[in-house]
Amino acid sequence: MIHASLKELAAALAARKISAVELATLFLDRIDKLNPTLNAFVTVDRDKTLALARDADARRAAGENGPLLGIPLAHKDIFCAEGWRTTCGSKMLANFVAPYDATVVARFKAAGAVTLGKCNMDEFAMGSSNETSFFGPVKNPWDTQRVPGGSSGGSAAALAARLAPAATGTDTGGSIRQPAALCGFTGLKPTYGVVSRWGMIAFASSLDQGGPMARSAEDCALLLNAMAGYDERDSTSLERPAEDYARALDQPLAGLRIGLPKEFFGAGMNDDVRAAVEAALAAYRQLGAVTVEVDLPNSGLSVPAYYVIAPAEASSNLSRFDGVRYGHRAADYADLNDMYSKSRAEGFGDEVKRRILVGTYVLSHGYYDAYYLQAQKIRRLIADDFVNAFKICDVIMGPTSPSTAFRLGEKAADPVQMYLSDIYTIAVNLAGLPGMSIPCGFDRQGLPVGLQLIGNGFDEARMLGIAHRYQEATDWHLRRPALAD
Ligand code: GLN
Repeated sequence: MIHASLKELAAALAARKISAVELATLFLDRIDKLNPTLNAFVTVDRDKTLALARDADARRAAGENGPLLGIPLAHKDIFCAEGWRTTCGSKMLANFVAPYDATVVARFKAAGAVTLGKCNMDEFAMGSSNETSFFGPVKNPWDTQRVPGGSSGGSAAALAARLAPAATGTDTGGSIRQPAALCGFTGLKPTYGVVSRWGMIAFASSLDQGGPMARSAEDCALLLNAMAGYDERDSTSLERPAEDYARALDQPLAGLRIGLPKEFFGAGMNDDVRAAVEAALAAYRQLGAVTVEVDLPNSGLSVPAYYVIAPAEASSNLSRFDGVRYGHRAADYADLNDMYSKSRAEGFGDEVKRRILVGTYVLSHGYYDAYYLQAQKIRRLIADDFVNAFKICDVIMGPTSPSTAFRLGEKAADPVQMYLSDIYTIAVNLAGLPGMSIPCGFDRQGLPVGLQLIGNGFDEARMLGIAHRYQEATDWHLRRPALAD
C-alpha cells in the first residue's frame, strides 16, 4: 500500500479493501518510525488526522466516491490549516495556530483528502536545502547525510520515504522542482495564478505558486484537479474555465518539438546529471519527439534578477511580523520601537534577515532605479525569451538542478553557491510559466537526477501528458530509497 499510486489507493478505498482510517494509520505509523531520523514533519496530530479519515469514511458510506476521498496528504507548513499549528519553518510563527484554511487546504478538504501533518521547510520558503528551518534540517531519504533540497524539503523527504503518498509544496524560484529532483519524485509548479495563494504565507507574491508533489505525473494531475481554480479572495487568481488536468495524459508524443536551451547545457552542470538528462532526451526521441535548439539569451541574468525582486517583495511581506499582530514577541523591551526590533531580531533566522536587508536596500530611495527597476526590466526580457522559444517548440527540457543532493552543511556558509542551485528553475518563475521535474536517472552515488520540463502558459495538461508518456516507458519514478522498504 505505501508504494501504491493515488489511483490504486483510490481504487482500494472504493472497493472497501482498506478504509481511510486504516490508510491514514499506516502512514502515521511510518511517520512515528521514520520522522525522528528525517525530520520531515514539524507537526503531526494523530487525533486530528484520524478525525478527518473517519469523516472521509463516513462520506464514502453515504455514497460519495471522489478520486481523493480518503487519500492521505502532507501539507507544506506554509499553508494555513484551521486548528493546525502553521509555522512556515520560523520561530516567528512557532506557536501560531491558523484560524482558517488556505484555499488549497479547503479544496483538498472538500475533496475528502486526509491531512497527515505539516511538513518542515526552509524558513519562509527561503532556501534550497531545508537548512534554514527553525525546526532543524530535513534529511534526504536517499542518503541521510545529504539535503533533500528546499524549500519544500519536508514534503520531499516525506514522499521519498513513503511517509505520505502525496504532498503540497510551493515554488517561488524552484522549491517544488529542485527538491523533486534531489529526492526523486514528480513535482509541478503551475502557471502563475492557477493555484490560489490565499492562506499561503507570502514570500514573494509575484513569484509564489503552490503545486502538487507526488510519485508520478498521473498523480500530480489528480492533485492539481483539486488544487487549481479561480479564487475571488486572491486578486492574482485567474478566472478561467475549470480544466481536467488528466485529459492529455495519453496524448502521443509523435511530432512533439522539444526545445533545448543551449544556456541550460553549458558549463556548471555535473557530468552525471548531464548523462541522465541526455539519456532522457534520447528516450523522448525514441517515443517520437524531435529536439530543436532554442535560445534563452537572458536566462543567465535570472538568478541576479530574482535576488533583487524576491527579497524586495519579501521585505514588504514580512513587515507584518512585528510582534503585535502575529507570532513571536520579545519578553523584555523599552518601548514600541524596541519591541518591534527585538521581536524581529529574535523571531527571524539569518537567511530571512539577509533577504529583508537586501530587499529594503534595493527598494530604498536612490537605489530603487539602479536595482529594482533594472531587475524588473530583466524579468521582462527573460519572459520575452520564452515567448520566442515557444514559437519553435512545444515544451522546453533540461536539467532541474545542476547537481544531485549535496551534503548537509556543504553550501550553508556560502549563500551564492546555495542560490545557484536554482539556476535552471528561477527563470520559469520570473516568466510565470509552468514547470515540472521528473526523475530521469541516478548519479554514480545512487542519488536521483531530475529532468525539468517547462511549458508555455497554461500548458499544464499537455506537460503532464508529456511526463506521463515517459513514465509509462521508464521506471525511474518507481525507484525508491532503501529506507522506504
Ligand atoms: N531557493 C530559492 C530561494 O531561496 C527558491 C525558494 C522557493 O522557491 N521558495 O529563494
